[in-house]
Amino acid sequence: MALLIRLTRTPVPCCLVSTQLRVSCFCRRTVTRRNMASNPTAADTTRFDFLVIGGGSGGLAGARRAAELGASTAVIESHKLGGTCVNVGCVPKKVMWNAAVHAEYLHDHSDYGFEAGKVSFSWETLKAKRDAYVTHLNRIYRNNLDKAKIQTIQGRARFTDDLEPTVEVNGKKYTAPHILISTGGQPTLLSEAEVPGARLGITSDGFFELETLPKRTVIVGAGYIAVEMAGILSTLGSKTSLIIRQTGVLRNFDSMISTNCTKELQNSGIDMWKNSQVKSVRKTDQGLEVTVITKDPEKKNEEEKISTIQEVDCLLWAIGRQPNTSGLNIGEMGVETDDKGHIIVDDFQNTSRPGIYAVGDVCGKALLTPVAIAAGRKLAHRLFEGKKDSKLDYSTIPTVVFSHPPIGTVGLTEDEAIKSKGKENVKVYRTSFTPMYHAITSRKSQCIMKLVCVGKEEKVVGLHMQGLGCDEMLQGFAVAIKMGATKADFDKTIAIHPTSSEEFVTMR
Ligand SMILES: Cc1cc2nc3c(=O)[nH]c(=O)nc-3n(C[C@H](O)[C@H](O)[C@H](O)COP(=O)(O)OP(=O)(O)OC[C@H]3O[C@@H](n4cnc5c(N)ncnc54)[C@H](O)[C@@H]3O)c2cc1C
Repeated sequence: MALLIRLTRTPVPCCLVSTQLRVSCFCRRTVTRRNMASNPTAADTTRFDFLVIGGGSGGLAGARRAAELGASTAVIESHKLGGTCVNVGCVPKKVMWNAAVHAEYLHDHSDYGFEAGKVSFSWETLKAKRDAYVTHLNRIYRNNLDKAKIQTIQGRARFTDDLEPTVEVNGKKYTAPHILISTGGQPTLLSEAEVPGARLGITSDGFFELETLPKRTVIVGAGYIAVEMAGILSTLGSKTSLIIRQTGVLRNFDSMISTNCTKELQNSGIDMWKNSQVKSVRKTDQGLEVTVITKDPEKKNEEEKISTIQEVDCLLWAIGRQPNTSGLNIGEMGVETDDKGHIIVDDFQNTSRPGIYAVGDVCGKALLTPVAIAAGRKLAHRLFEGKKDSKLDYSTIPTVVFSHPPIGTVGLTEDEAIKSKGKENVKVYRTSFTPMYHAITSRKSQCIMKLVCVGKEEKVVGLHMQGLGCDEMLQGFAVAIKMGATKADFDKTIAIHPTSSEEFVTMR
């Protein structure tokens, strides 16, 4: 526990990294101050240059970069290091998606000449291996903090009402001239008043605790987490229903993606309940009974239909996420939040209280791990390297949905481009085809692609695709788009044959 050594006894001169750093001479020391606001008795407060609340993607990245730049840094984490991504997000999700892709490929083995015999699947084995991998990552994160001489403080942070921004964890106080809030978010769960029996369901966090593959699953939601979990569970063999309020999933994606993904989910055997909402949930001897109301808003004269789905052993709410701000006492600090509780920040991640910053999901913008990481690092460069202009450019962020087949998307949707540039200035190129992998398989899936171009020079402002390999295909195209590539640049690039990605450089 090298990091738990009382740092206060051995103040470290740490103004040695660069001349710029001397501006705010970083030294770790304990200050004994009078707590003027709430507690009249003197209290020991440990002081750092940089205090990070939340050891997830954004917090760890910001802390490590700050420490590299010479700042004495501490990270406060209430649960497990790595945050959502490592413990209940991207990482275990991708392991599960990989397993589901295996299950899909099994259907193609005989078409490719393999006779694999009877195949069985053990959820328990998969879960044990996945959990061990996550635990291994938790350890790596801890070691990395130790190596970087960042103090890890285990516990829940809360701002005190001291005059100087101060954080209390397990009765001990910590302060710094720069405090970063990177507390992320958590899945939204409906209240019993909204849907009686709602608490009988789980969220994406609970998905990662499932000890066995559910036989009968109901997922509520139309966002990417709902789509991904429905795909995983259904492909691995759970009979899955997806309840969505409107007629398609991924409604804030390009309309081509939304329509195609909805179709793919249905084609894969997922039982889709459109225009539907859960009315109530009841526990019976056979499992959960989920009562659903369905009403097509187009059919004004039609009565709403009430149906029940019986013998459900997993009801999963994937209806959004909310920021982890409650209990932090940030209101008292003058840190403003929006009506959903997200911390309001400017382009430089400054909150409304000087010296307090926020990055990542807690800000409610582009809820993705690489975004939180990049924002945390940019902030560290600004605060501890004197790079005044260091800020994250939130435009053209690529993202992948690990559906079956996967989706890749970057930049403006066709509708967004038309809205911002005018219909006459937008040119769209589309294609759809059966990837060559499926040329000899009886199982088929389509690949669809779209390029959104604007202006006379046909600058590519959006690229959207769903199909085999699209997850790995996107990153390189995102670089080109970020650099301002035009359709002519795409056309000038020699195709790689035979691949699906070559379609993007041969579109007419
Ligand atoms: C199921 C799922 C799948 C996802 N898949 C992807 C994906 O494929 N790709 C992708 O880019 N993103 C994905 N995400 C999103 C990604 O996980 C988040 O965008 C990312 O983790 C946000 O990082 P963060 O640092 O803002 O917060 P987090 O990683 O959530 O970290 C916040 C940390 O703060 C801690 N904390 C909270 N309150 C306190 C407190 N008061 N005191 C101390 N500690 C506190 C929490 O315990 C947590 O560890 C997924 C998310 C989910 C839920």
